[in-house]
Amino acid sequence: MAWYRPQSLPEALELLERRRPRIVCGGTDLFVNAPRKEYEAGKTDWLEVRGLPELRRISRQAEGLEIGAAVTAAEIWESRELRMVPALQQAARIVGGWQIQNRASIGGNVANASPAADMLVPLVAYRAEVRLASASGSRSVPIADFVEGPKRTQLRPGEMIVSLFIPARMLGVPQIFLRHDQRAATDISIVSVALILQGNARQVEWGTAAVGAAAPKPFTLSDEEERLWAGKLDADKLRRLGELYAQRSSPITDVRAGAQYRRSLVGTYVVRAGQALLSNLEQTEGEAWR
Ligand SMILES: Cc1cc2nc3c(=O)[nH]c(=O)nc-3n(C[C@H](O)[C@H](O)[C@H](O)COP(=O)(O)OP(=O)(O)OC[C@H]3O[C@@H](n4cnc5c(N)ncnc54)[C@H](O)[C@@H]3O)c2cc1C
Repeated sequence: MAWYRPQSLPEALELLERRRPRIVCGGTDLFVNAPRKEYEAGKTDWLEVRGLPELRRISRQAEGLEIGAAVTAAEIWESRELRMVPALQQAARIVGGWQIQNRASIGGNVANASPAADMLVPLVAYRAEVRLASASGSRSVPIADFVEGPKRTQLRPGEMIVSLFIPARMLGVPQIFLRHDQRAATDISIVSVALILQGNARQVEWGTAAVGAAAPKPFTLSDEEERLWAGKLDADKLRRLGELYAQRSSPITDVRAGAQYRRSLVGTYVVRAGQALLSNLEQTEGEAWR
């Protein structure tokens, strides 16, 4: 077994190509889920990426916001620069507990592709891009395509996630992340929703929601979704939208909740997210008029 700790991205990619080690960032998924036998037999080589400067950056560009794959959940919710993506900050703040948040990376959350991954959900709502690199080049993949299903992604051998890119149109737009769980800390989502609404309380221009833990991977509605939210968003319309997301879900029954209960929670949480955002918007508008 070897443990590599490269100092730069080119060095890491060269090692990845030549030695094919397993990538490790915070280790909070890997060392909980990987079979113990793998370590005992000393079969695996490891490539630690959490210190790579190229994966540690947060940078605002004209086209959007780039967040390095090794940026941790704690760094996300503490970041002033990331106040323009509050739904992602709210999701980061609920991951595990503070010990986990200090190690859990956004790249690890995406690569692990758990249906209940929290940071993944707002990223899907933002239509984020996964920026990947290997020794032979780089590419970008829409996050909804990159995650194929539970623990399955489009990551190719020799490739790593360098960053997540959020398009500019999602930045600073009213948004919220809500999660239903049993304990409100050190727990896993039963259902989660990230909702983004552009406009104001009387006239929504467009909206999009991503739902987590209620299908093999987080989902949004069709390409028509943004228009479905447009217009006046009264209680009846919000309830009907909640039903659409519930119908689109395909939850499972597990130790945390039954499928039917999860499906009904999808509708409930879409409605709650809508109500919470509308009431924030009304407050902000009220303050602006005073
Ligand atoms: C007690 C506990 C509570 C938790 N609670 C939550 C929770 O509430 N919500 C939640 O979403 N998650 C939770 N998790 C899961 C975990 O903390 C997160 O998914 C975390 O973001 C994983 O990041 P990591 O850096 O630790 O990944 P690692 O464990 O290092 O890696 C996870 C996977 O990603 C791959 N990987 C990592 N970085 C890269 C990269 N740059 N490129 C390519 N592949 C990469 C690894 O090879 C591995 O397959 C919890 C875990 C524990 C132990």
